Amino acid sequence: MMAPLYGLVAAAQLLSLASFAIALPNGPIRRDAAFAAAKDQSYDYVIVGGGLTGLVVANRLSEDKSTSVLVIENGYIDDKPITSIPYMASMLNVADMWPILSAPDPGLNNTVWDVRVGNVVGGGSVVNGMQWDRGADADYDAWEELGNEGWGFDGLAKYFKKSTHFTPPSRSTVKQFGITYDESAYGNGPAQVTISSFQYPDMKPIFDSWKAENLPMPQEGFADPVGIYWTPNSVDNKTATRSHARKTYYDPVSSRSNLKLLTGTKATEILFDGKGKSLKAKGVKITSRADGSTGQVTAKREVILAAGGVLTPHILMVSGIGPKDVLDAAKVPVKRDTPGVGSNFQDHVPLYMSFNLSNVAFPNPTTPTTNATFNASAAAQYEKERQGPYTFGRGNALAMLPFQQVSSNWKSITKKISQQADPTKYLPARYAKNKALLAGYKKQREVLINLYSSNVSTLGEFPVQPWGRAAVAHQKPLSRGTITLNTTDPSAAPVLTYNTLQNPIDKAVIAELVRFNRKHWARPELSQYKPVELVPGAQYKTDNEIINAAIAQLQINPSFAHPSCSAAMLPEELGGVVDSELKVYGVGRLRIVDASIIPLIPSTHLQATMYAVAEKAADIIKGV
Ligand SMILES: Cc1cc2nc3c(=O)[nH]c(=O)nc-3n(C[C@H](O)[C@H](O)[C@H](O)COP(=O)(O)OP(=O)(O)OC[C@H]3O[C@@H](n4cnc5c(N)ncnc54)[C@H](O)[C@@H]3O)c2cc1C
Repeated sequence: MMAPLYGLVAAAQLLSLASFAIALPNGPIRRDAAFAAAKDQSYDYVIVGGGLTGLVVANRLSEDKSTSVLVIENGYIDDKPITSIPYMASMLNVADMWPILSAPDPGLNNTVWDVRVGNVVGGGSVVNGMQWDRGADADYDAWEELGNEGWGFDGLAKYFKKSTHFTPPSRSTVKQFGITYDESAYGNGPAQVTISSFQYPDMKPIFDSWKAENLPMPQEGFADPVGIYWTPNSVDNKTATRSHARKTYYDPVSSRSNLKLLTGTKATEILFDGKGKSLKAKGVKITSRADGSTGQVTAKREVILAAGGVLTPHILMVSGIGPKDVLDAAKVPVKRDTPGVGSNFQDHVPLYMSFNLSNVAFPNPTTPTTNATFNASAAAQYEKERQGPYTFGRGNALAMLPFQQVSSNWKSITKKISQQADPTKYLPARYAKNKALLAGYKKQREVLINLYSSNVSTLGEFPVQPWGRAAVAHQKPLSRGTITLNTTDPSAAPVLTYNTLQNPIDKAVIAELVRFNRKHWARPELSQYKPVELVPGAQYKTDNEIINAAIAQLQINPSFAHPSCSAAMLPEELGGVVDSELKVYGVGRLRIVDASIIPLIPSTHLQATMYAVAEKAADIIKGV
């Protein structure tokens, strides 16, 4: 869970700005030899960001030995235990994240939040919670419906398989816990996923309590992600270690002479040739974190942005591609007025409900931190056999439910969407001033009304875990965030304003998710635990009471660590930034392949989707 930073807002922002700047090491300055060798060189493709999508695309493009690829990554290679031991995925690896704070969020009492973005080779795949799932087919079909030919589920299905390989847990665990799966939903790809053979005993009664709900329980969530199902983690079953993009897509091909990875290097600006209609990306300005030296690299074919949902809009804007008013305010010369950059920002919105449970089994997920003897033996078992509690991440099951299965009020709440005659009242100010952005939002609303009303697309996530932490997460918010520039120092951290709950319908949806979860925890199948609601607290009953209490408790978070949609793939007349070949409108030789291109956030944790998107992007770039 993310820690909010409240109070001292101004001081916190200053801190963020200071640490976002390139920090030089103390002591004698080490000359960055790799940087010196790579700068001033030309490559066919220059990829900005060696995170999840950047490394997938780098691997695939460099399969052709005659194609040279440079990946520029601000972070370093990190193999500390926190990056690899599954148990440690429950701890936040902030050392491998960018030091970015959000702008005060008006919908959450102006609180400021840590923005979770990986800053390490492998990006988010190294620091994430390892949950592995995908959205419903209808969620990707929605991308196509919004004007992106080939991006429906049929166009993505083969890439979900191409990227992934699943190994089942042990037979005894399958039998004991009633785990179901279907290996044919996965392929033989580099990303390794598995369900831990170690499950805490309370998982069985808690998972079984969902059977009593009489809701869909697909055998395999990666084939049919609607209902209650078991989910793998991005863990390699052979080594019981995290399977992340560096280990799976970069390390095995790092010896290719046509592939170069430059770590500890920040891309500070995209360089262009020409202007107006003949504007073309020609390379990137770079700065070494080791010695502060600067340089530039040239892209003979294309610059490919893979800096993620928060930092891709930032580098576009500092380079002069973005909304004119934002660039003017920061005194960045406008190369192209593209209002969609930093607009349409989306993330899932969790409310971290929790229950105090009695009669919990031993061991349970708190045991490693509360019982030193247990922890020592778990660590030794992991060290010796790669088995036991340290192979367990954050959990292996989800309830992903359509609105109509969560709430009897689904129709009346969904109806309110179309009753919002003037959606600009519930959107950032820029939507009232820009026809394309507004048209795009209205089109999204039409699609969302169908998805809210559908029983094959989901709106509420309820992670099924063997303890009383029982979050709910709104999967299809109507509110939209923005990313802009710091006007006094555009190169400082971007200004991310989440605008959480700006649309009141989002509050109504979250309150319904809370009520559903309460009903679930009151089921007779769970009575042995005598659950007592701690967050937000059973005394809060109306929508306003529930939402206001959770905001005051800092338990509604603006982000589920899925920042996305901020340089959306949409027709330009709908506010898009890239077309369906991921080419940036109005700029030659520039594409985006990361989470910022998603037009409408799907109901799922994002990593499996981003592996598939990146695999598809690579084929598009190669012209396959
Ligand atoms: C804390 C956390 C928990 C998460 N939990 C889950 C989960 O359990 N399951 C799941 O499915 N998803 C999860 N995610 C989301 C998932 O990891 C991301 O959606 C995914 O990594 C996005 O891929 P990307 O390539 O778009 O961006 P990233 O993987 O973030 O890669 C972007 C890379 O670009 C680099 N970069 C940025 N700007 C520059 C620059 N100017 N110069 C050089 N390099 C730059 C960054 O350092 C980073 O390495 C989580 C993410 C986080 C952060």
